[in-house]
Amino acid sequence: MSTQNIETIEKIVGEYPDPETGRSLRSMGQVKEVSVDDSSVIVTIALTTHSMPIREDVAEAIESRIVAAVPGSQVKLNFVIHERPPARIGQIGLRAKSVIAVGSGKGGVGKSTVAASIALTLRRFGAKVGLMDADVYGPSIPHLLGLSGRPSVSAAKRIEPIKLGEDMPVMSMGFLVEPDQAVIWRGPMLHGSINQFLGETEWGDLDYLIIDMPPGTGDVALTLSQALPLAGAVVVCTPQEVALLDAIKAISMFRKVNIPVLGMVENMSGFRCPDNNKIYDIFGRGGAREKAEELTVPFLGALPIEIALRTAGDEGRLAEVIESDAAARAPIDAVTQALVRNLAAKASASPPKASLPTL
Ligand code: ADP
Repeated sequence: MSTQNIETIEKIVGEYPDPETGRSLRSMGQVKEVSVDDSSVIVTIALTTHSMPIREDVAEAIESRIVAAVPGSQVKLNFVIHERPPARIGQIGLRAKSVIAVGSGKGGVGKSTVAASIALTLRRFGAKVGLMDADVYGPSIPHLLGLSGRPSVSAAKRIEPIKLGEDMPVMSMGFLVEPDQAVIWRGPMLHGSINQFLGETEWGDLDYLIIDMPPGTGDVALTLSQALPLAGAVVVCTPQEVALLDAIKAISMFRKVNIPVLGMVENMSGFRCPDNNKIYDIFGRGGAREKAEELTVPFLGALPIEIALRTAGDEGRLAEVIESDAAARAPIDAVTQALVRNLAAKASASPPKASLPTL
């Protein structure tokens, strides 16, 4: 291969934006190898675990650019992990790269299921994820994940979250009150608990903290927006018109407290009958996509009614189904990747100034 072609390939790889920071892979020290022999090119790129969910996008984009610039070349792309710990964010000092709230206009649309599924999917793709159940009025995350126990408090007054497996910290009011007890929240108490969950829990270093919000109300969103800069919110809704009206309110609520809306998810969008494989649009279909367009909010995808998901949630086996059932999880994979792609596009549209430290 000619020197000129090698230089072209180095340039393509080096200029590609790191999905996490939006800055060029070369400037972030993430190009580990570009070597060539006759016609094959070996490229090794280091990506942070934050970018792992869209690693295939990076591979496809770089390969197609190389093949377009140097026709006939065979590209072998390898990935290694780039260590880049999260900075502390907000006054409370949480160490997380992207904090994402999952909200809905009303209850029962599958918000908690979607929040937990997104968290589990990010984790399955290799990211470090925490899940915070801020739905203090009806905390259902412990049930969906089959988790129980009481978080302990260390001598340093830090809350030890309950962990899913060895690696995913989960915090929920459901761990602190009896399942059949109602909690009556006064504003300051709510504010205090959310801040405590965020700032006093031993989350460790996270790529993503997914927050399951209470439906409808703006109190928790306001508290969050004051506590730390969120990457944004995902709004879950079902396709029928009445549900969409509530979703519009949720979007307007997030916008009011300056939390950017990262996208809408249409849940319970169609049902494939296992008996005849026909699709029935029980609640309609496509409404959220249209509304998202109207409101200039990205549409992240649709999740069909999936019996495996419902039974898994009821039985506390959501994590197992996300791990093992490729057909049931495929639409959630797509939504999760659309979300991370959206974050990457935002980072690349406004990368941090070159003069800032690039930790
Ligand atoms: P919310 O948090 O909005 O109140 P949940 O996540 O608790 O809603 O879901 C309500 C019910 O709907 C649960 O029984 C859950 O298993 C079920 N559910 C949610 N999404 C789906 C889906 N895509 N397919 C089948 N059942 C679903």
